[in-house]
Amino acid sequence: MLEFEAALARVLAAVPASTSETIPLSDAAGRLLAELVRAPIDLPVFDNSAMDGYGVRAADVAAARPDAPVRLRLAGKVAPGAAFAGEVTAGTCIRLFTGAPLPPGADAVVMQEDTRLDPNAIGEVLILAPAEAGDYVRPRGEDVQRGSLLAEAGEALTAGRLGLLAAVGFPRVCVGRQPVVGLLATGSELREPGQTLAPGQIYESNRPALMMLLQRAGALPRAFPLVADDPAATNRALADAFNQCDVVVTSGGVSVGELDFIKGAFEQMGGELQFWKVAIKPGRPFVFGRCRGKLLFGLPGNPVSALVTFLLLVRPALLRWQGARNVALPVHPGVLAEPLVNDGERRHFMRVRVDAVGKVYSAGIQASHMLSSLAAATGLVDVPAQATLPAGTPVLVLRWE
Ligand code: AMP
Ligand code: MG
Repeated sequence: MLEFEAALARVLAAVPASTSETIPLSDAAGRLLAELVRAPIDLPVFDNSAMDGYGVRAADVAAARPDAPVRLRLAGKVAPGAAFAGEVTAGTCIRLFTGAPLPPGADAVVMQEDTRLDPNAIGEVLILAPAEAGDYVRPRGEDVQRGSLLAEAGEALTAGRLGLLAAVGFPRVCVGRQPVVGLLATGSELREPGQTLAPGQIYESNRPALMMLLQRAGALPRAFPLVADDPAATNRALADAFNQCDVVVTSGGVSVGELDFIKGAFEQMGGELQFWKVAIKPGRPFVFGRCRGKLLFGLPGNPVSALVTFLLLVRPALLRWQGARNVALPVHPGVLAEPLVNDGERRHFMRVRVDAVGKVYSAGIQASHMLSSLAAATGLVDVPAQATLPAGTPVLVLRWE
């Protein structure tokens, strides 16, 4: 049986090199950059005002006080999106709004609150406070210098990065291609929610959960119809999914029960099984295979096992497919508010709930058919075999919400 890290390494090694496509920035939310990005321009683009106020020559107003205002002639006004053609010469100032370019000659901004208009002298402004060169000026290039590194290949386009790339003028961006992932649920006992259950039947619950996780991992998911426990039906369904998709994720039918057909169907298609057991709980039966550059992930049917093995072993592969640098689940430190006990022989990724201050609670009963604890959980804690982590233990929580 493979250790988790060895299994993950084998999965990642089998992922084909990522390919890229150029798409509009407006469609790129959450996508992974395929190339290093440098700034083509400075930000701010030009020296500009940080305030609504007046552009001045600092030397002119060095002695300004509320009781000894300095009187400047108003040389003009810069409307939003415009620039002043002239120069601010000695004894003059210019009306500016936040973000307006500072005209040549001006080297400081006096905020409007430190000025007064003289009703008896139209076209003049009384400056009530002194300014030093640079006051309330946002200098060109202060934020980003032309040519500087903005983001590297494999980094995700977060809202902040999208804003940054738009601000330096990129209409398009080169990102990793997303894998098309077929999702199959196997089991003759399964019915779609909304149908009537006959004795022995249950509602299928893995596809809705996995669809969401596939989307979150940046994949393009395609849900396939339910597959009965029958070799011919399994062969057809798997072949169909592999024809249409880059990666196929199945649930159920991978353990040692005699109704477990996924492995056989995959080998019959010419697929090459890489491994089918990983030493983790939940989710020991886990099939990984390759078939002509495409990947098969056969997840166990138990809902908890399916979801946890997806997060630990499939999500990283889908991210790597798109060229991600970091494929691990986000990790947050926390402290156990109650003990976590693993009396089993395998390490157990236990479902936990983390409160707002980082206290970590068990999400409920940890058996792998328990959907209520899955729904309550926001993360996993890796508990070694035959170990008790007492309350107060600092832990790293793998987060997935
Ligand atoms: P299997 O891995 O096929 O042996 O299934 C293990 C357990 O998970 C059985 O109790 C199945 O009924 C259940 N199960 C399998 N697939 C699903 C599914 N898609 N939705 C809900 N339960 C499932
Ligand atoms: Mg089954």
